[in-house]
Amino acid sequence: MKAEILKLNKAGSPQAWIHFEQAATAKSKGQVLWEMGSLACTMYGGIQNNGKQSRLELPAIIAVEGAVVEQMVPGITNAVLFARDDFMCLYCGHTFFARDLSRDHVMPRSRGGKDVWENCVTSCRQCNNFKADLTPEEAGLELLAIPFAPNLHEYFYLKNRNVLADQMEYLKARFKNLVDA
Ligand SMILES: [Zn+2]
Repeated sequence: MKAEILKLNKAGSPQAWIHFEQAATAKSKGQVLWEMGSLACTMYGGIQNNGKQSRLELPAIIAVEGAVVEQMVPGITNAVLFARDDFMCLYCGHTFFARDLSRDHVMPRSRGGKDVWENCVTSCRQCNNFKADLTPEEAGLELLAIPFAPNLHEYFYLKNRNVLADQMEYLKARFKNLVDA
């Protein structure tokens, strides 16, 4: 898996994982305010007048110009939800491939449960079918962990399965819920 560069806003909040090409464009347009972390990639360009090939070094983290938006709770996606729960069904405790997992609403949606991080857990299909429109108590199931909304730093960590050491260090410094990541 190819590594990506962590893009921050000028306040230091993660904005996106971007490809080297996008980072190179931001850099050549002078939009990069500061850089952090060791070298993630060196890109080579054309031959310059001095006969040398041009090269652009890209770091693991860049901060770019742009409006600072209020920090929000990132939207829920199955990929990040499963990563939050370590690909483990929070009812039976077994781990599965993503394709065998589903999003379960602890308080079922049919009964007013919301589609938010705190009401969603990773569930295998068998447990999800068994639970159906019941609460865990009614179904005699016990949640193995309390579902939480990841903060922005946790979200960006969970979203990328190939985080570089410097990026990990930056994100981890502001983790709230995740331990042993
Ligand atoms: Zn299960």
